[in-house]
Amino acid sequence: MTVETTTRTTCPYCGVGCGVLATRKADGSVSIAGDPDHPANFGKLCSKGLALGETLGTAQRLLFPQVQGARVGWDEATSLVADKFSKAIAEHGPDSVAFYVSGQFLTEDYYVANKLMKGFIGSANIDTNSRLCMASAVAGHKRAFGADIVPCNYSDLEEADLVVLTGSNFAWCHPVLFQRLQTAREKRGTKIVVIDPRRTATAEAADLHLAIKPQSDVALFNGLFKYLYSRGEADCAFVAAHTNGLAETLLASHGWTIEKVANACGLAEQEIEAFYKLFAKTSKAVTAFSMGVNQSASGTDKVNAIINCHLLTGRIGKTGAGPFSITGQPNAMGGREVGGLANMLAAHLEIENADHREAVQEFWKAPRIAGKAGLKAVDLFQAVHDGRIKALWIMATNPAVSMPNSSFIAEALKKCPFVVVSDVTAKTETAQFAHVLLPAQGWGEKDGTVTNSERRISRQRGFLQTAGEGRADWRIMCDVAKAMGFHGFTYTSPAEIFDEHVRLTTVANDGSRKLDLGALLNQDYETLPPQQWGGERPFADGKFQTPNGKACFVPTRHEAVVCDGLTLNTGRIRDQWHTMTRTGLVPKLFGHRAEPHVEISPLDAERLGIAAASLIEVHNDRGKSLARALVSDAVPPGQVFQPMHWSSSFANNSGTNVAMSQQRDPISGQPALKSAQVSLRPFQAAWYGYGISVEAVCSKIDYFATRPLVVGQAFECADLCLPINWLEFVTAQFAGNAIASSVQGSNPAQFRCLGLTDNHLAFAFFASDKPVAVSRDWLQQQLGKTVNPLEILAGRPLAAGEDKGSILCACMNVGRNQISRFIDKNHNASLQAVCEATGAGTGCGSCRIEVQRMIHETQRFTQAAE
Ligand code: SF4
Repeated sequence: MTVETTTRTTCPYCGVGCGVLATRKADGSVSIAGDPDHPANFGKLCSKGLALGETLGTAQRLLFPQVQGARVGWDEATSLVADKFSKAIAEHGPDSVAFYVSGQFLTEDYYVANKLMKGFIGSANIDTNSRLCMASAVAGHKRAFGADIVPCNYSDLEEADLVVLTGSNFAWCHPVLFQRLQTAREKRGTKIVVIDPRRTATAEAADLHLAIKPQSDVALFNGLFKYLYSRGEADCAFVAAHTNGLAETLLASHGWTIEKVANACGLAEQEIEAFYKLFAKTSKAVTAFSMGVNQSASGTDKVNAIINCHLLTGRIGKTGAGPFSITGQPNAMGGREVGGLANMLAAHLEIENADHREAVQEFWKAPRIAGKAGLKAVDLFQAVHDGRIKALWIMATNPAVSMPNSSFIAEALKKCPFVVVSDVTAKTETAQFAHVLLPAQGWGEKDGTVTNSERRISRQRGFLQTAGEGRADWRIMCDVAKAMGFHGFTYTSPAEIFDEHVRLTTVANDGSRKLDLGALLNQDYETLPPQQWGGERPFADGKFQTPNGKACFVPTRHEAVVCDGLTLNTGRIRDQWHTMTRTGLVPKLFGHRAEPHVEISPLDAERLGIAAASLIEVHNDRGKSLARALVSDAVPPGQVFQPMHWSSSFANNSGTNVAMSQQRDPISGQPALKSAQVSLRPFQAAWYGYGISVEAVCSKIDYFATRPLVVGQAFECADLCLPINWLEFVTAQFAGNAIASSVQGSNPAQFRCLGLTDNHLAFAFFASDKPVAVSRDWLQQQLGKTVNPLEILAGRPLAAGEDKGSILCACMNVGRNQISRFIDKNHNASLQAVCEATGAGTGCGSCRIEVQRMIHETQRFTQAAE
């Protein structure tokens, strides 16, 4: 290839759905930039999106179909899958098979999966990892609006005077949207309220942070409902014209005095009142919510408690106002449009409705149609475990890590008679259980559409040659469907599938369903620009999708959560995505957080004898994991926070979801992934280690957490037993025969060594009885270079000023030490000045809050010293 080509596509990570310009260079490399014309991001990208070009290597890819680990041709693999599924259906009925798919799917993939399972196999046993992300929002929308319709769009966040962020670490999990909000705030003085048990980066930027007790959101919003009504803040005209059911909801909120809310939420009455007053007086108010609301045993009630307050005040369907579900997955919304959840049909038609079923069956010319909802994610794997599912096809997701009670999921997969996994890599925990592995196209290769959180459909376009024999997911499924003898799967392109999906949204749709994509029918698929269905605000006309066109108030119940031990909260960190199958390939994305960790309050750490940076065991009767202690007052006593990303691919004995129960919301089926009861105990490490190596290193010792470097890898480790001979141990475990020089300390746990290849640093290892204190970032940069061995064994540069410290700003590669040095010399520097001088925060901007924290800490320290 000699010419540079730029392709307009979409980021595959979060539900913001940023437009991306991918430029294929003449040398084959790919550069990534934000698409200035995309209405989701206007040219901005976050650290994850900016690093997409570094995830495109083929080293980790699954390149060929495999059966029981042996390479086979596509025909053989396809026939085997078709045969096994057909036999299971013939012998045990259609409900004996299941698909578990993914919000990473393109809409066209989702459409084919749903059509095959519901219309041709005749079961609704197709669920998706989006169940873990936003099923409660879907259920809440359906109860209130009659359909799963998001009322807002992103510009509402910029036009609101008050933005309430609840259960959402916006600054880290939807960084580009957060930057849009921050920019608007600078201009119009938007007030931000954050409702979150933790003091997250988002909470630090808020005007008011309500650190509520876990799972007390319903109490808070029921109290707000009562407050608004009793103070005459209801929009009576709107309520009368556009809503049903006020009386019952008033009754349910009746007892929620400020005092009672304060007790339930663990807050001071003044804090509650401050929030209620602010909400009451601000008509342009958006309440944005994410996983902290959805991933709960009362997730659907939380969603409706929020919506109730917006309906009562008529703050919906208007500029800068509304309840706004922000999804985690890139195409959770596209999956909802085509019915990719077990309790949906397609195109917002209902599986329980016989007329709808008949219309879809007729449209598909399908031999049958699923007559009832299928198994939702947790129930689906329960059915796999107890033998009801005989054949399971998992596509583009890693449930052995991401589902709650992950050991149970692994057990279920092990017992399942036939497991097919299609994915871009075989290096997932789930793939280890596959009888058949099918290589799917990855981002940059596949072609289709996605829909973001504001209902905006965008094209995701291919610009790379597919690695190995990978195929589009829709094509893999179509080939299996044809091999099972089904017609209706003869598509030759994603455009044909999209066209069929668009036409289905118009079937039996006389304006009764807002999801009507008919306007797209004559548009060219190849050049399709991003566009929103339902208009900017689908409820601007005050018409909802219920039988009488009115929205429904839904009475909601607060369930107090009793916890004897510590409550484990889980979530994402700034620079990683899901189980790290892609972001885990990018060295700089480990600069912010390098290994599995648990945030714990200073009080609990002291009570449990846990030292900062030591290792802790998080355990309950479902399992245990090891993680580094991050002692922080951002977490209240009685709670701990553990990111959900790490798995055995990156660390032994990791896996946050091992501790999670299968408790779920009774309506949405969404698992309660933010509250497990756990205990913590110090891991009695006899020694801690840190190493870097040009060659790949892997160890099965108790704790071994690895991350890639630009050259080689780095690892953190620890063990309960002290080696008898360090040289022999390190040689056997990590270094091979590379060790050239070593030092044994006076303490038997202290040891340092290095290895050289042709005078270049090939390996270095440091052990201590305490967490190892060396200049990691500097050492990592020395790997592969000619070095001074004494300097390496010292673990830090001998000249001052060379160590930039751990990377705080992944976009611009700026380290903490660089920022500290500037702040130390310029005590009164503003955030802007620090960012301009060091470069930190000048990329996506999501680290600016942490830079601000460093400035404040230095100023506090300086003032105290003066
Ligand atoms: Fe991708 Fe970041 Fe945009 Fe989300 S905010 S779509 S992860 S670039």
